[in-house]
Parts: sequence; structure tokens; C-alpha cells
Amino acid sequence: MLTLPVDQISTGFFIMDKSIFNPRGQENNISSKIIVGLERVSEVFKILLWEKAKLVGLSPIQIQILIFIMYHKRELCNVSHLAREFNITKPTISDAVRILYKKGMITKDLSSIDSRSYSIRLTPSGNKIVAEIENFADPLKSQLEGFEQSNLENLFGTLSKLIYQLNRNGILTVQRTCYGCKFYDQTGKKDYCKLLDKELLNSEIRLDCFEYEENPAANKKLS
Ligand code: SF4
Repeated sequence: MLTLPVDQISTGFFIMDKSIFNPRGQENNISSKIIVGLERVSEVFKILLWEKAKLVGLSPIQIQILIFIMYHKRELCNVSHLAREFNITKPTISDAVRILYKKGMITKDLSSIDSRSYSIRLTPSGNKIVAEIENFADPLKSQLEGFEQSNLENLFGTLSKLIYQLNRNGILTVQRTCYGCKFYDQTGKKDYCKLLDKELLNSEIRLDCFEYEENPAANKKLS
């Protein structure tokens, strides 16, 4: 009879030693540990967002929509784009938008060329609520600010490349990093923005650039 080690028996199923989520599998695999770490950090983001949502009587996605509209250009502030941005269905975004509209926090700008769609703008009341809630992630930021600048730059360098690669592989729908932008150029190991006409240091690579324009041919191999 086959005898399994204790850590391979679990309600009749085999536990995969190499699973990202098996603490034993993580021990010697830094990628697994990073994924589990990112999951923990995303929990913090969710908790902070929920706490603020409860205080102002909005759902987390309604808060995210308001903040997004505050800081992004009109072409991105419509139901279709918001659904892609937040990876949720158009009906879910439409529901959230309907409630924000009823609460007087947004208006619908129907002056678009496409008569079937509209842009979403904030009303003065929407602006006021954003000013109240947009500090929800401050506890996370203040923890990061306790780290050495060089550590932060290394972390940011890896994160920005990871986001770009996830997008190129079709896993992440939307990204606006320099690496996928039509104004981005690389000479040797130097990153360059042709719009700003300047070299970009690692810490100057943008994750969400206002001037970003997609370069459909971008397929840069990052190291
Ligand atoms: S326009 Fe923005 S995203 Fe594009 S390369 Fe320049 S800084 Fe980067």
C-alpha cells in the first residue's frame, strides 16, 4: 500500500509541492513568494478601499470610478473603457454609473461623435467626494516611504516591466506604461521619450501617463 507523507494528504487530494500557494513549494522559489506577497498587498488595498467605501456610503468600484474620472482624459471616461480598465463587465459599470448619476456626483456628456456613448464628468459634488476619499491608500504609501530610495527604485523597475509584460501576454487588459507608448524609444540601455524629448531614468518611467498613446507594434523584450 502506498503511504503518503503527511503534507501530501488533504481531504483525499494530492497537494502539489510546486504550487505557488503551498508554503513548502514557496521555500526555494522567489517568484512564488513574490506572487503571494503581491496577493497580501492587494488585500491591504482592498481593505483600505472598503473602509473608505463604508464611511461615504459608496461601493469600492464607485469610488474607483470617481477617482479615475478625476484624473483621466475625457476619451477614457466612458463605460466601455472603464469596464476594460477595471476588468469588470459593462453592465456592472453601467449600474455603478447609474447610482453615481442619481446621487448627483457625475454628469453625462453626450457631445461625443458616437451618439451611442457618452463621457462621464464629475459634478462639484463628485469633486468634493473625491477630495474626501482619495487618501484611502495613504497608509500603504507611508509604509513604502520608510524604505531606502534605491530599494523603491528597484521594486518599481521590476513592477513596471511586469505590468507591461502581463499586458503584452494578454493577461492585463489595460496599461499605459512608457514601454508600450508610441513616443517611447530605447537607445542602448537608455530609455527615451520622444514627446518630452528627454532620457527617462528608471524612476521616471511612467505607469499611467497622461500623454500615453499606444504603440500597436510595441513588443519590447524587457530584462
Ligand atoms: S509620452 Fe508618457 S508614456 Fe509615452 S514615452 Fe513619454 S513619458 Fe512615457
